Amino acid sequence: MFLGHFAIGLGARRYTPLVSLGAWFLAVQLVDLLWPLFLLAGAEHVRIAPGMTAFTPLDFYDYPITHSLVGGLVWAVLLAVAARGTYRHWRAALPLAGGVLSHWVLDVISHRPDVPVLPGGPYLGLGLWNSVAATLVVELALFGGGVYLYTRGRRPPLSFWLLIAVLLIAYLGAAFGPPPPDVTTLAVSALAVWVFVAWAWWADRTPLR
Ligand SMILES: [Zn+2]
Repeated sequence: MFLGHFAIGLGARRYTPLVSLGAWFLAVQLVDLLWPLFLLAGAEHVRIAPGMTAFTPLDFYDYPITHSLVGGLVWAVLLAVAARGTYRHWRAALPLAGGVLSHWVLDVISHRPDVPVLPGGPYLGLGLWNSVAATLVVELALFGGGVYLYTRGRRPPLSFWLLIAVLLIAYLGAAFGPPPPDVTTLAVSALAVWVFVAWAWWADRTPLR
């Protein structure tokens, strides 16, 4: 999933006044932020296989460090400890840890059964990506809900709306554009999610009224 993860961050931001939207995007996308780094380091692997599912040309056959449930738990604990140090509050840290784990749940919904529980399996996946139409309906609905929750009672700056537009364009480009030419290009372009985190930090400056 892509937009669905950001949707969780957008919606959750409303209920955690201490925590910036940037921190939320960092949490809900933490394992996808780390994934290209592990790919480039050769510690995880992906294959470009058009037709793998209707929605994505990627065969995620080896990503246990970032995308297994135990991996997610470890990353969630690490982020919670870091957030506890930053915000001095478990009240801010624990929801962010939940955000890290929400990534795994949403990926299980969208992937074919390739999402590991433990590094060697079992593998789960409900296969939403087998239908382009269903994927678009679910992700756009989640994203719309997230944007609604975030913006209700708040007047976000133009930089926020530009971020929303760029996320939508990136999503539709990945959905309907050509598959990436090779894994290195894929990994480098996946690093763009780091930019979205920084952008969200910067754009999230209007308080709830
Ligand atoms: Zn993921």
